[in-house]
Amino acid sequence: MQAISPVDGQVLGVFEKSSAETIRRQMDAARAAAAAWSSIDVTRRVRLLSRFSRILLDEADLVVDVIMRSTGKVGTEALLGEVYPLLDLANYYEKHARRILRYRGVSTSPFGFPGATAGIERRPYGVVAVISPWNYPFQLTVAPILSALFAGNAVIFKMSELSLPVGALIGDLFDRLDLPAGLVQAVIGDGQIGELLIDAGPDLVFFTGGLAAGRAVMQRAARHPIPVLLELGGKDPMLVFADADLDRARDAALYGAFSNSGQACVAVERMYVEQACYEGFVQMLVEAAAHLKVGQGLDGDLGAMTSPRQIAVVEEHYRDALAQGAKASGPLLREGNYLKPVVLWDVHHGMRVMREETFGPLLPVMPFSGEDEALRLANDNDFGLNASIWSGDIRKARRIASRLQVGNWAINDVLKNVGHGRLPFGGAKKSGFGRYHGAEGLRSFTYPVSGLICRSRLPKEPNWFPYNAERYAHFKGFLDFVYGEGSLYRRIRRNWPALQAFREYSVFDLMQRWQNLRLMLPWNRDN
Ligand code: NAD
Repeated sequence: MQAISPVDGQVLGVFEKSSAETIRRQMDAARAAAAAWSSIDVTRRVRLLSRFSRILLDEADLVVDVIMRSTGKVGTEALLGEVYPLLDLANYYEKHARRILRYRGVSTSPFGFPGATAGIERRPYGVVAVISPWNYPFQLTVAPILSALFAGNAVIFKMSELSLPVGALIGDLFDRLDLPAGLVQAVIGDGQIGELLIDAGPDLVFFTGGLAAGRAVMQRAARHPIPVLLELGGKDPMLVFADADLDRARDAALYGAFSNSGQACVAVERMYVEQACYEGFVQMLVEAAAHLKVGQGLDGDLGAMTSPRQIAVVEEHYRDALAQGAKASGPLLREGNYLKPVVLWDVHHGMRVMREETFGPLLPVMPFSGEDEALRLANDNDFGLNASIWSGDIRKARRIASRLQVGNWAINDVLKNVGHGRLPFGGAKKSGFGRYHGAEGLRSFTYPVSGLICRSRLPKEPNWFPYNAERYAHFKGFLDFVYGEGSLYRRIRRNWPALQAFREYSVFDLMQRWQNLRLMLPWNRDN
């Protein structure tokens, strides 16, 4: 498979496609590595992994260079969008993985479980298959790899067929760590190879990509069945109220819609502006967009589109909008793989540009009359990844945010949630499910195992055999005592015979109250 640079058509490398047989062998090696890795104490795992961020920082220029040539994005975008979020995430897990993954006590009813305490252990799945897209190929592959590794798993990743040199670079960087052989491996190929990877039987599939491929991945995984986490597309709205700082909102809109040439799952894909400031604001956007520079390397705001296939989608959305009456700030100019950004207005929800993921430098803007209409328009889409609300009234913005059908929202900022290592990231509706980043995200790469420790020295638990009518009556009385209505005195009085039947268990009550108290200390508490 050839890797061709979208910048200038240069061949960046030739890669051999993986076969079903090599993938099976890789899976065997990954299983052995997972067993070794999960048995290493978390503190030592963290120490071994913490070298990754040091290497990444030292090699930032090399990483940025490979990303620029493979994707066409400009250097600052590669540094801020691909390197920075990984440093933040790795730093957070280096400091907190131990705490996030440790055994946690939960409170235990002394009546149902006399003399017992309980807790939850987090166990790694085993081998995680990471399947990733081309738009942020480095970050969107390394973040799930690191999360899986911190949690104690082995990883086999499949980089997008459009970003193979980035996959090779990731392999090289992990090879520099002192990890068990086979802990991080790559398979090379397209969607079909992705299906072979699933068929090889990983224990979890972490997929980032479009809705169609996400469905196919889930179907394939269902055959086994293997759990999947899907991070899919978006059609993110930005809502601007007249009481917002409009200059700041304008600059945010341009950045949100056009960074990485709009090829971001959390890009601003639809913009809604309060009627009172709509016309002036569109004018501000058009004027400012004209100053954006398309460029390459370290110059320019927008780089190249990564694939001609995506350019075709952008062109179709542009044509469809104009055919249905939209106005545009200019023609959709193309030079090689470079597109000039365009602002669109007089748009409506019958247009593809307002319904489907465009994933390119188009910013359609539509007016709304008030809070309710803004919400209705924002929620009128199948996707639900990210959204932003712009207003000087934070209470109003919070009220609206809480009713948006999304996995992430920001007030008076755009896109940034995804770069915050402590915030779980993921979608609602057709943007997928599952979370990564943050504490919840690290736990997504583990499954909970429940544990019960009984310290009773009595010969039997109250619920064990034999059963008979008298026992049944005692249990009923016991349930009424614990869960029934009325004061404690009344419940004791009416169920006295039942309580007598269980009196030998009450000595454990005190002991257990003490244990529960200990488990309920803030640093031991989970729920
Ligand atoms: P894509 O769905 O075409 O491909 C993603 C990956 O899946 C690639 O590695 C591809 O080879 C593989 N794949 C495709 N079909 C497969 C199959 N049947 N079985 C197994 N693997 C298969 O996506 P893309 O075009 O590379 O990326 C763009 C999409 O990704 C956009 O929709 C974007 O919104 C989405 N995305 C989502 C997030 C998020 O976090 N929610 C982040 C970035 C991108």
